[in-house]
Amino acid sequence: MKDQDTLQRFLFDGTDTRGEITTLASSYQNMIASKNYPTSVALLFGEFLAAASLLSSSLKYPGIVNIQASGSGPISMIMAECSHGQKLRGIVRGNFDDLTYEQQSTRQGVSTLLGKSTLAITVEPENSERYQGIVPIENDELSACLEYYFEQSVQLPTKIRLASSKTCAAGVLIQQMPSSQSVIEQQHEWQHLCTLFSTIKSSEQLELSHNDQLYRLFNEENVRLFDAQMLSYFCSCSRHRTEQALVSLGIEELLETCKEQGQVSITCQFCAEQYEFTKDQITTMFSQSTTVLH
Ligand SMILES: [Zn+2]
Repeated sequence: MKDQDTLQRFLFDGTDTRGEITTLASSYQNMIASKNYPTSVALLFGEFLAAASLLSSSLKYPGIVNIQASGSGPISMIMAECSHGQKLRGIVRGNFDDLTYEQQSTRQGVSTLLGKSTLAITVEPENSERYQGIVPIENDELSACLEYYFEQSVQLPTKIRLASSKTCAAGVLIQQMPSSQSVIEQQHEWQHLCTLFSTIKSSEQLELSHNDQLYRLFNEENVRLFDAQMLSYFCSCSRHRTEQALVSLGIEELLETCKEQGQVSITCQFCAEQYEFTKDQITTMFSQSTTVLH
């Protein structure tokens, strides 16, 4: 049995290593359902979503973790974000027509799909300053790029494995926390766990329960698996937020659009929800925002 749409923390008792393990099913399926992404693009998107879920575990307070890459290849932008409450959303933009049939239909490396690109990881706590780390994408595996980010920006040794199919995305991470142990003792223990960790297969990540994956990897270690947190697809767009974005465009441009098209129509890029505004609603919107401003 798989653990669907959950994130779980685990610890190795008596060590300073923590872990996270996640499986996305309907949350991932719902996000790609209406999008017509080629298979290879959907698979990479699944990995981004699984990674966002894993990284959201580092949020100690309400906020968002966002993983985004911009490239010069067929994918111009790919983004996944996950909130403290495990609400996920994401999007891919690009022109996939230049990919060959084989490149569309089978798993491809990050650089084939993104070209020359950079990966930005942004941690945005609601009540404090945001933090952003940027690393070049110099490896075909997203997991290796993220490991590099942890090494460079956060300076915490981290190992990540991501896997995805057309119906499921999965991720597992182990991370060495600052320790009171001697450096040699700590390195020895970390190397031992890394060796075991490196033996996981994508098929196991996609097919086994979290408990079975951890047993398969670490059956001789004392692993403590914590309660599952549920993940879901949730878009945080709203009519109110759309109004705020429209106000920044200025009333003249909006009234011009109304004249040409009868109304202003905005489609959310994440969930395709449509927000429509008539000329009267726009005028009211601006008179209200003026009241607030003065
Ligand atoms: Zn939306």
